[in-house]
Amino acid sequence: MTKTLKIAIDGPSGAGKSSLAKGVAAKLGLTYVDTGALYRTVGLYAIRNGVDAADKAGIIALLPSLTVEMTNEEGAQHVYLCGEDVTDKIRTPEVSHYASSVSAVPEVRQFLFSLQREIADKRDVIMDGRDIGTVILPDADLKIFLTASAEARARRRYAELTEKGIKTSVEELIAQQNERDARDSGRDVAPLTPAEDAVFLDNSQISLAETIDEVIRLATEKQLTAK
Ligand code: C5P
Repeated sequence: MTKTLKIAIDGPSGAGKSSLAKGVAAKLGLTYVDTGALYRTVGLYAIRNGVDAADKAGIIALLPSLTVEMTNEEGAQHVYLCGEDVTDKIRTPEVSHYASSVSAVPEVRQFLFSLQREIADKRDVIMDGRDIGTVILPDADLKIFLTASAEARARRRYAELTEKGIKTSVEELIAQQNERDARDSGRDVAPLTPAEDAVFLDNSQISLAETIDEVIRLATEKQLTAK
């Protein structure tokens, strides 16, 4: 099999990983893979089955009856839960909360591991998540650890939600963000931590376009081109 090109983007919630990954994917002709969507799908399954987010044994017991698939339809990623397209249904605050809980369960991470590896082995990808550079693609050609200050992240999220007509406040968003950050960084299995060979990018003060340009520059420096 020919070796595929792999770019890993990790970082905390709201740092702008998906916008960055989408922009770079479009410029370099890569497939963008949002791995958070997989954990969200498991979270949605737990909600639908009435399993509490903190009920680890209950979550593990759901895995044998669960199938998660990921497809690329006209350039957009879709996720399927037991055959149902749930792409739009996994973007609620309740699912965010569940995703961050189920993702701390080692059996869930193991369950989603091969799916992520298989996708990356088949095509040239830019994948974003929390453990891409450390666990899923330790062999990635380029690893980025994207951060931004808590305030910058919350302000961006505030603008997004307000545009959708959702009422919230920057303070409330910072509190939610802190809770998810603590859970993602403090868990025993695959905690959010930069790979040793990751390049750090803080985009608190720079625009999305500038962040994309910087990653393109790093990819060009490494002579990374899609096949
Ligand atoms: O990226 P997103 O916010 O959609 O991810 C939802 C949750 O899934 C995160 O809060 C994190 O707990 C978990 N996640 C993870 N590992 C990944 C991607 C996401 O643990 N590679």
